[in-house]
Amino acid sequence: MARINENFLKLKAGYLFPEIARRVNAFTEANSEAAKRLIRCGIGDVTEPLPDACRQAMHDAVDELGNSATFKGYGPEQGYAFLREAIVENQFAGLGIAADEVFISDGSKCDTGNILDIFGKGNVIAITDPVYPVYVDTNVMIGNTADADETGAYAGLVYLPCTPENGFVPAIPDQKVDLVYLCYPNNPTGATATRSQLEAWVAYARANQAIILYDAAYEAFIQDPELPRSIFEIEGARECAMEFRSFSKNGGFTGVRCAYIVIPKALKGYTVDGREQAIHPLWSRRHSTKFNGASYPVQKGAAAVFSEAGKAQVAALIEGYMGNAKLLREACAAAGLPVFGGVNAPYVWVGCPAGLTSWDMFDKMLNEANVVITPGSGFGAAGEGYFRISAFNTRANVEEVCRRIRATFG
Ligand SMILES: *Cc1c(COP(=O)(O)O)cnc(C)c1O
Repeated sequence: MARINENFLKLKAGYLFPEIARRVNAFTEANSEAAKRLIRCGIGDVTEPLPDACRQAMHDAVDELGNSATFKGYGPEQGYAFLREAIVENQFAGLGIAADEVFISDGSKCDTGNILDIFGKGNVIAITDPVYPVYVDTNVMIGNTADADETGAYAGLVYLPCTPENGFVPAIPDQKVDLVYLCYPNNPTGATATRSQLEAWVAYARANQAIILYDAAYEAFIQDPELPRSIFEIEGARECAMEFRSFSKNGGFTGVRCAYIVIPKALKGYTVDGREQAIHPLWSRRHSTKFNGASYPVQKGAAAVFSEAGKAQVAALIEGYMGNAKLLREACAAAGLPVFGGVNAPYVWVGCPAGLTSWDMFDKMLNEANVVITPGSGFGAAGEGYFRISAFNTRANVEEVCRRIRATFG
């Protein structure tokens, strides 16, 4: 009898995006004319083409593979030195990070899920609410939770509410937790964490022998020079944090696939009997056993993000998306709605008009404005009463969305 992993039966049936798709399909079937006007500002995927520098580098790499003198088979599981070195030089200069502390992968979604392989049972795990659902579901799958209640909250996780009152950066918990996921700039709220907020989290983690899993997928969108871009800008973070980064949102690699984790050699976990164990060799072993490296053309394309041309092209992409975010912020504010995020992140987090739930607002935007947004409650109970608008879109679409927001709420 082949036993299954019954933890999978605890998962809420991928509620958010399937339910959005169901409502959008019902709408388009019932309104074939209005359906032609539909603009999707829901899913957090980039829309603009790859930077030319990346595309050229991938072309060249494919040509190398087509020539016996330059052909390459399996590469190093942890990633090619040229990419690991370019990352350290361009993203972590002066922060004491070495190239062999960078592990290249095919995505941060996989990395943030797979990392749980190297942690033991019985950790108290803290996640923010609202949250990127991958952190929650991967903990459910591996057996770190009990069942969900009717609000979708899983027993065994410590939820840290993120609200306007705390600037969407959770207060330090008054209990001891062992692993904490932080994501700044944040998906879905678009919030950022200040240096002093991250200092408080690093102090907490060090005092409690906890580890911070820091997701900085949206680092490139930070505009404010005062904001920390990496957890490793905080003194002591190398002993209590790892950082997840991705080429998905800066280089537009959502379809190309390349990301990395930075795990300092100074980062320690503990055995049941309290002995220290470095995390770096555990992840190195896990990664080289279960992963055979990101493809050579993809790593060449990723390294081209750091070429002179690549930097300029990525900056232009970010500027375009952040211009969209500004327009969306202004339109929602002009409609009298409370607006958050969208200044250092490509997501605008908006309070629903009085009396409307997140799904009420979803339906209103769909039916009256023919715009698809993401209901905040889909990211966690504390997201109720909010919705997320993504700035990943063409300028023309964003301008039209802004006109429709004004017409619907003006
Ligand atoms: C988009 C995103 C990522 C990147 O995921 P990839 O698998 O690298 O495409 C990571 N974290 C968050 C919160 C994201 O929104």
